[in-house]
Amino acid sequence: MSEEPLLRLQEVEKRFGEFVALNGVSLTLRAGSVTCLVGPSGSGKSTLLRTVNLLEPIDGGGIYLRGEMLGFTVNGDHRRPVRKKAARRQAANFGMVFQSFNLIPHLTATENVMLGPVQVLGADRTAAGEQAHELLTRVGLADRFDHYPAELSGGQQQRVAIARALAMKPSVLLFDEPTSALDAELVAEVLAVIQELAREGYTMLIVTHELAFARDIADEVVMMDNGRIIESGPPERILLHPATERAQKFFASVS
Ligand code: ADP
Ligand code: MG
Repeated sequence: MSEEPLLRLQEVEKRFGEFVALNGVSLTLRAGSVTCLVGPSGSGKSTLLRTVNLLEPIDGGGIYLRGEMLGFTVNGDHRRPVRKKAARRQAANFGMVFQSFNLIPHLTATENVMLGPVQVLGADRTAAGEQAHELLTRVGLADRFDHYPAELSGGQQQRVAIARALAMKPSVLLFDEPTSALDAELVAEVLAVIQELAREGYTMLIVTHELAFARDIADEVVMMDNGRIIESGPPERILLHPATERAQKFFASVS
């Protein structure tokens, strides 16, 4: 693992009207590291992922990928949002996996995985199809290439969504509660795929309530509350010996 951070959040602020959703969040991800983001509902975890992915503009601070500020061009103290094309290029550095899969229902598994490369990266359909088959095989779906989302279990749909994220060759994978919508017996197959990606060296930021999983996979666990990071560090310390009463209560409530 390199020491230079791949991704750095510096005092990020995000407001919705008067409401402060992110209140000065600073975080660094080293290349090849896995960070698990935990915290109560409404603490700002999804908002944090959405700001990183440029789905939400920020109101203060900065987000830097390999030192490049995302979302803005800066001129002294003055900054303005980057143009659409630059924003799209920057966002392509991130692969997002949502709680609710978000597959396109009238496209097969293969077509769902091909869509980004063909439409956004301008890839050739044959090459994109071959890549989709490779990725679906990698997530254990070699026998489901031509199935539609409705013909797949939730766990299989989520694995298609992971293959779709990988197809864009992102620098960072963002997962927002990837197993929360799944029946209990389907959680393990999705977590196993994410574990394998960690072994392969992907840099990942994962929002999860699966604390045993976080303990296994994370290099760092970050706990949020009320739009702030209240604790962060190695999983053994944060999960087993949290310093704050807030974190102790939260871990007791989810385990
Ligand atoms: P978490 O993912 O930790 O449950 P969120 O990031 O989804 O929390 O939300 C953090 C807070 O921001 C919540 O109080 C939520 O209601 C608020 N929020 C999120 N998105 C919006 C939005 N688009 N407009 C207004 N408030 C929002
Ligand atoms: Mg959320």
